[in-house]
Amino acid sequence: MTSSFSNLSLAEPLARAVAEMGYESMTPIQAQAIPVVLTGKDVMGAAQTGTGKTAAFSLPLLQRLLKHENSSTSPARHPVRALVLLPTRELADQVATEVRRLARAEENIKVVTLCGGVPLRGQIASLEHGAHIVVGTPGRVMDHLERGSLTLEALNTLVLDEADRMLDMGFFDDIATVARQCPKERQTLLFSATYPEGIAKLSAQFMKNPQQVTVQAQHAEAKIEQRWYEVKD
Ligand code: AMP
Repeated sequence: MTSSFSNLSLAEPLARAVAEMGYESMTPIQAQAIPVVLTGKDVMGAAQTGTGKTAAFSLPLLQRLLKHENSSTSPARHPVRALVLLPTRELADQVATEVRRLARAEENIKVVTLCGGVPLRGQIASLEHGAHIVVGTPGRVMDHLERGSLTLEALNTLVLDEADRMLDMGFFDDIATVARQCPKERQTLLFSATYPEGIAKLSAQFMKNPQQVTVQAQHAEAKIEQRWYEVKD
């Protein structure tokens, strides 16, 4: 398996963004997941933060967006095509930043973050201006669905990022409610560092024959040097 981005046939603006960001070759999770995700299959990736998993799901969803959207039309006319659910606001900000950097050559692609602890009003206004990609926490995304400020009828990609942490935080039912409002014909991608029981349940209910992708931890044990110092009480 080759790890050069040039073998992916990425749309030119994405290939350029990857080069400008200084990504010389794919990380192991990217090399394994991106070609499969690009085929449209559901993928379950075992990967921690720091492995490059954000670009592993963002590049294919941007590729699909660039192929199917006419970027000369106003973003307000475009419905939400991709939703990334994740556990915290900090992670939402990180993921949204990475997606915006990868998409920066296409100024018309709008990414909106929807997290709790922030007034709803600004989020509603952002959604009214149009969003191609929503990145948010399950509870707040559900609030918007209930209010009708967000609809997922035209969605084609659902990403569950750090799924194990979302389950730890008690989000199973919220994730299920949101997933049920997505079209049945969609691609679902799930990334998780660990695989507790709830992950199998999520995948059985909301994914279609997912392909599993696993990578070793980024740091081989042998490469970590440990030192200890004895100190007096
Ligand atoms: P993530 O695991 O998605 O949080 O990514 C961890 C960090 O790796 C982020 O700062 C990314 O910008 C960076 N990164 C992702 N893919 C690559 C790559 N192929 N080459 C170098 N850095 C990367």
